[in-house]
Amino acid sequence: MNPIINNAWPVVLSVAGYDPSAGAGIVADLKTFAAHNCYGVAAITALTIQNSQGVAAVHPVDPTILRESILSVLADGRVKALKIGMLGNFAAAGVVREILESNPDIPAVLDPVLHSSNDFSLLDAEGLDFMRRELLSRVTVITPNLAEAAALAEIPVDNLENMKAAARKLVELGARAVVVTGGHLDKAIDVFFDGTTMESFVGERIKPDNTHGTGCTFSSAVAANLALGRHLRDAVVLAKAYVVEAIRQAFPVGPGRIPLNHLYRMTQPARLTDHSPAVAETTR
Ligand code: PLP
Repeated sequence: MNPIINNAWPVVLSVAGYDPSAGAGIVADLKTFAAHNCYGVAAITALTIQNSQGVAAVHPVDPTILRESILSVLADGRVKALKIGMLGNFAAAGVVREILESNPDIPAVLDPVLHSSNDFSLLDAEGLDFMRRELLSRVTVITPNLAEAAALAEIPVDNLENMKAAARKLVELGARAVVVTGGHLDKAIDVFFDGTTMESFVGERIKPDNTHGTGCTFSSAVAANLALGRHLRDAVVLAKAYVVEAIRQAFPVGPGRIPLNHLYRMTQPARLTDHSPAVAETTR
């Protein structure tokens, strides 16, 4: 046993899809958790085939494997927040409902992922209906973008006024709090509604139309901030600031869309030797 006990980082569990290009999904979530001094754990709902140019295929994970993966990490008893991302299908949504039902005290952020930017479906129609009826009301906050808010609320969502209308409608449908993210508008406005207070947060719009995994990253940053004990409104404001900076410091990794630079706060020493162990003696 290691006798040294360091201060433990809060554990955050992501239940989401796997993007092998590491810009979205589980990998983006784990990097985001790390950037917030949280220890990320993850259960995969589906394997996607994708690169910077878009999603080409989705292969759902067997729901039994998904359930067992989630239960096994929860059994360690340290998860302080949940992030629910791409579900893929109705079966995965059903597993997530069971988990939320049996863990009502863990704060949970639901990013209701429906399509990739190249319009590949990331949730089937039955799953969307189930999400609306069964998942919205079981999480702390949902973080739809404009298209997701429109699909869930069943109204057009393309400006500040109808973002607010969608947030109200989603609360009527049972959501406890909503952040409609408007990164695709002329100004990057997010609308926050917790059933009582409606606020809009205006951010700079940087590198428009060219970022990959922004929704995953924002929802994970909110979950990490909740795991760190922050209030929901503060968690949302801090998550937006983190995403803006991660976009500002992004760089291309292929010919297509640009992933966020999740680890922009982390720099390595220029020389490897800066971290090499001290050598007491060298013999030849
Ligand atoms: N792949 C996975 C696993 C995702 O979770 C998401 C979005 O949440 C995407 C792809 C799509 O990302 P984008 O909208 O940046 O194309």
